[in-house]
Amino acid sequence: MMDFDVITIGGGFTGLVAANRAAQLGLRAGVLEQQTEERYICNSRITTGVCHILFANMKLPEAELTAIIEAATEGRARPDLVRAMAANSRRAVDWLIAEGARFVEMVMGDGIRSLILAPPRRFRAGLDWEGRGADALMRKLEQSLIRRGGQLLRGTRVESLIIEDGACLGVEALRDGAPVKINAKAVIVADGGFGANKEMIRRHITPAADRLLSRSSPSAMGDGIRMAEAAGAELTGLGEFYGHPVHREGLSNDKLWPFPMIDQTVNAAIVVGADGRRFADEGLGGIIMSNLMAQMDDPQSASLIFDDAIWNGVAKEGPTGANPLIISGGGSLHQADDLAALADIAGIDAAGLVQTAAAYNQALAAGTPEALDPPRSIDRFAAHPVTEPPFYAVPLCSGVTGTMGGISIDAACRVLRADGSTIPGLYAAGTTIAGLEGGPTVAYMGGLSKAFILGLLAAEAIAGEPKAE
Ligand SMILES: Cc1cc2nc3c(=O)[nH]c(=O)nc-3n(C[C@H](O)[C@H](O)[C@H](O)COP(=O)(O)OP(=O)(O)OC[C@H]3O[C@@H](n4cnc5c(N)ncnc54)[C@H](O)[C@@H]3O)c2cc1C
Repeated sequence: MMDFDVITIGGGFTGLVAANRAAQLGLRAGVLEQQTEERYICNSRITTGVCHILFANMKLPEAELTAIIEAATEGRARPDLVRAMAANSRRAVDWLIAEGARFVEMVMGDGIRSLILAPPRRFRAGLDWEGRGADALMRKLEQSLIRRGGQLLRGTRVESLIIEDGACLGVEALRDGAPVKINAKAVIVADGGFGANKEMIRRHITPAADRLLSRSSPSAMGDGIRMAEAAGAELTGLGEFYGHPVHREGLSNDKLWPFPMIDQTVNAAIVVGADGRRFADEGLGGIIMSNLMAQMDDPQSASLIFDDAIWNGVAKEGPTGANPLIISGGGSLHQADDLAALADIAGIDAAGLVQTAAAYNQALAAGTPEALDPPRSIDRFAAHPVTEPPFYAVPLCSGVTGTMGGISIDAACRVLRADGSTIPGLYAAGTTIAGLEGGPTVAYMGGLSKAFILGLLAAEAIAGEPKAE
């Protein structure tokens, strides 16, 4: 029987940050990680590494971050969690720097100057994480944990929580295949959500789960959410996810995800279904578009349509743009000199597409894109006409990077029951939690900011450390 003050279920950034902070505050900390490899694959390892809060720089002052979060979540996020994120964002960056994290500032395709873990990913087709900033930081955090007397127990798959009289006392796990009980005064669920669990995606997000592209690490199977639910935790917000529109051939070609990032072209152009009709407001951004595509009868039936001005303009901006990464990744880019011919090549209804483009171009010329059905908003992303041949079509599908809902927590990361009471000894942080993201506008806080900030706060709450709120 092993005994700790604090254990985390999962050794991604959430678990590693929480365990390090707990050890720093004098607690005996252990990270339980199901995988055995030295550099096990989790979302934290393969992340792009852009550290943001709603795409804003994490070093912005608290008041500015609060305003940004409140505007984007339209009052639906838990106010205590909003305060906690905004108040501790800069501190989390400083804490990581003290741990040896390196950041660079980089202007991404959306024009925002973001903090990115260094050395940054080489923005080229395919998944390329080895030796990049996130991988380097994970290894530093593991070394620091060991130096502080903590442990990272690979090959330890948590199966269930030990609950007695409503309190969590530890976990039951399979360690190198053998059952083991691990006692802890506090357990932090940090398993990374259910982005790779088709069955849970089918149940909570879309019956067409098989038609989505998983951009998530295969480790995110929702174990923590199921265990917390069994212990009486409230689950909320399971219906939306963090994802991006992806080239459809990314389903069989790994060089077509996570880059190119097609979002910025989606935000500039038009997206139509097989009938050639628009079905969503492209101006709302790629994350909401991937959610709306997931709700289509067939999430693999949408196509992105644009003209030569967009292909040689917006699509080229930033390091992750569609031009030229679609080409270098070997993805189809249908091309024709008129829209009817393009529709025929791309398998789209020609009359529908011609009519859609005409109405869209007319509305843009008249300055009335909001009058379109569905409306086209222009406050976040400029709409560009589709008028200059050649015209292009890219087959799309919806990519799921991570889930947004999960276990209800308060600002001390204590797991909550539906009546608002806590489950003593049980905490959750990172991608597995609910209360900050989602809703009709599919607000996305940032997976890394949630991992870093909530990882710190969970450990500090357990250690009884007063925290800045
Ligand atoms: C391709 C890609 C790009 C991304 N880019 C960005 C970005 O630029 N910016 C950003 O903010 N976010 C990004 N994200 C999201 C971000 O990386 C994640 O939200 C974040 O890393 C999640 O950290 P975590 O510690 O909560 O979970 P994870 O990193 O997924 O770690 C969870 C760990 O728990 C382990 N585990 C699961 N179940 C068990 C169990 N039963 N027992 C023991 N261990 C278990 C898993 O094996 C895993 O190692 C990206 C994600 C992906 C996939």
